[in-house]
Amino acid sequence: MNATIPVTVLGATGTVGQRFVRRLVRHPLFHIEHLAASERSAGKTYAEACEWRLGGEAYGGLASKRLVAADPAHAMAPIVFSALDSGPAREIEPQFAAAGANLFSNASAFRMEPDVPLLVPEVNPSHLDILRLQRERRGYTGSISTNPNCTTTILVMALAPLHTRFGVEALVMSSLQAVSGAGYPGVPSLDILGNVIPHIAGEEEKVEVESKKLLGRLGVQGAELADFAASAACHRVPVLEGHTLAVSVRLCGAPSPADVRETLAQWRGLAREWELASAPKKPLVLHDAPNRPQPRLDVDDAEGMAVHVGRIRACPLLGIKFAVLGHNTERGAAGGSILNAELALARGSLQR
Ligand code: NAP
Repeated sequence: MNATIPVTVLGATGTVGQRFVRRLVRHPLFHIEHLAASERSAGKTYAEACEWRLGGEAYGGLASKRLVAADPAHAMAPIVFSALDSGPAREIEPQFAAAGANLFSNASAFRMEPDVPLLVPEVNPSHLDILRLQRERRGYTGSISTNPNCTTTILVMALAPLHTRFGVEALVMSSLQAVSGAGYPGVPSLDILGNVIPHIAGEEEKVEVESKKLLGRLGVQGAELADFAASAACHRVPVLEGHTLAVSVRLCGAPSPADVRETLAQWRGLAREWELASAPKKPLVLHDAPNRPQPRLDVDDAEGMAVHVGRIRACPLLGIKFAVLGHNTERGAAGGSILNAELALARGSLQR
């Protein structure tokens, strides 16, 4: 008998969906019950429906498993992970929550709704308390929890310790984002090779507002946005995995680079007491070498779940600047979502 919890992956054929599968087939608490995708894929085996694009065992060993349609009649489980595009997610995710599933979504459809937790376990685990309000308001017997956009996830991991200790007053961020962030096939190779594209639709707005929700407080009406000025500029670059961010911040009290380094070095995040299975031992890895972090050298550390900070130095405009690197499809997508489910389970926030 299998003592682990059955889960569903919605969007299992996609870039993020495949990463869910690769993580979940070896997860200590969960096992895959259903793989779901669009009507185009339903009824086909996993191997017939998509091409496996990751290393490790092809299709996570589930090549012959039949895909089902992404609706609760065919794909229900106590925990459901969604790697759906935002359009289908807006329609499909509430159906699962209404039917009693605890759904953890990567899509942007519900992230900014005040009664939907937007979570990074090390940063704002208490935001799971919003689920009570969500169930009251929406009448769900299950729930929807979300993880931020990949760039925002990586950014807030470095900002959270600084916001807690000093308070962020203003933030400027420029990103160099990997092509995998656009899904498959993403940007055509002839457009991206040897090139930089200074626009990613909707990304800058997501970073600016989602970071304020993650670092905000809980109010009676749900999450309240933190009060700081944020300006993001996002660029697509010819890197496979790993978003690099150049960050400048103005912090209350104008701490020195040494104070900032010490604060980041000591931070273990707010999830350590639960010893979550997918949590890295050190959520932030600090680099002192002037040429680190780099995607090729650092992004796979701790199975893509650690975030790297380097080049902490004085900024003549805002006070402090540094570089941040994280894995966009692991920490920024599938791994982050699975960590959220582990947190909800450990905190007793799931409907059983
Ligand atoms: P993707 O590769 O295009 O995969 C999309 C998945 O959704 C496929 O499995 C597809 O199934 C399924 N799907 C599409 N329309 C559907 C419908 N009407 N009903 C049911 N299933 C449907 O996309 P992705 O890059 O993996 O991204 C998935 C989600 O994660 C998006 O919301 C994205 O914004 C978010 N996200 C992505 C990243 C990243 O780095 N890539 C990071 C964070 C968040 P078929 O194969 O059957 O069409």
